[in-house]
Amino acid sequence: MVDSMQAIFSADDYGVHYPDSRGKFGPYGGKYVPETLIPALEELEEIHATAMQDAGFQDELNSLLETYVGRPTPLTHARRLTEHFGGPEIYLKREDLAHTGAHKINNALGQALMVKRILGKNRVVAETGAGQHGVAVATVCALLDMECVVYMGSVDMARQAPNVFRMRLLGADVREVSSGSQTLKDAINEAIRDWVTNVPDTHYLLGSALGPHPFPVMVRNLQSVIGREARRQMLDPSVGPGQLPDVVVACVGGGSNAIGMFYPFVMDPGVRLLGVEAGGRGIESQKHAARFADPKMGRLGVLHGTRSYVLQDEDGQIALTHSISAGLDYASVGPEHALLRDRERAEYFYCTDEQALAGFELLCRQEGIIPALESAHAVGWLPELMSDVSSDDVVLVSLSGRGDKDLDTVMAELAPGA
Ligand SMILES: *Cc1c(COP(=O)(O)O)cnc(C)c1O
Repeated sequence: MVDSMQAIFSADDYGVHYPDSRGKFGPYGGKYVPETLIPALEELEEIHATAMQDAGFQDELNSLLETYVGRPTPLTHARRLTEHFGGPEIYLKREDLAHTGAHKINNALGQALMVKRILGKNRVVAETGAGQHGVAVATVCALLDMECVVYMGSVDMARQAPNVFRMRLLGADVREVSSGSQTLKDAINEAIRDWVTNVPDTHYLLGSALGPHPFPVMVRNLQSVIGREARRQMLDPSVGPGQLPDVVVACVGGGSNAIGMFYPFVMDPGVRLLGVEAGGRGIESQKHAARFADPKMGRLGVLHGTRSYVLQDEDGQIALTHSISAGLDYASVGPEHALLRDRERAEYFYCTDEQALAGFELLCRQEGIIPALESAHAVGWLPELMSDVSSDDVVLVSLSGRGDKDLDTVMAELAPGA
């Protein structure tokens, strides 16, 4: 049985963590978009609220999560990793075993089903950088018989040729964007342009807990299935340790796997919530995507419709980011994370490329699991966590995806010339 989404909407929960009427999480979030997009966002807000209460929608979504996505994903006791550190018991939430190999499908499926069922929309546009979100969207569009257009920068298309082929196999129309830097941000601009022009029959399917309201809260709610399952599995002594974790760790790109994991634990005061950003080549190098950790470059700003921490230069131009993992390589971070950090409910750290590669190899050797490079940031940061926990603590790690997609990158790093 898939855990129902309605369960998280107890009154307390809702009041504390639902953004205000302007879509603000405290000083963060909101909807900084051109006037023409406001009606589309308001419509989305309405159907999101409807869907959350609609038992028919919930049943259909839960049934697809179970029979198509493969949920609930397992909770794995990482015995050898635990032994390796000689410290706390470590558990892994296995989003790598979800269909298409990562958590992104939870969001893609939920949004597509919502707009098809409630609004009767049959066309979806999306942007993709590394191609992972594009593949998830193309997958659910094939499943639900929806037209799918994915915008992708020329540079990214060349770098991610196998994902372009995957999307086309799945029936998506992948459109090359050759303006600007020919990468993710230009693809976002094109996807939004398409959406504005075709709003009556088209949904813009955003891939992380980012963008204008209601996307951050909608994506969080759809991804919270991760944390709801993990919380129940941890408490169930036949599956997990029979207790809540003391610490929860997740990597933070836009922030969707992390917020989906954190959210169901937010009301458990004894559970520490730790997010790990991409430290790239180190904060000093300025080649990273650690929006919270860099006091010089990480400042409040607006990017893609939402107010949050944004990496920028002295003139407020969006900084070029770097991470060995494409999924963490983004200049801003979801607004709810910024609020959780202000309220000291969650803490944020960073893991460098080098530490992530070490985490990648460690998980392969110790557990027989090849993680996504994004997820390897959560694993690669565990050695730093060890000095900060006691050996009878229990640690839960969000393993957001699998590493098949990253083999070329890792091969070039670990065995140059091989
Ligand atoms: C895209 C991706 C991420 C980063 O996105 P979030 O929204 O921060 O979760 C992390 N892990 C994997 C495997 C991804 O594909």
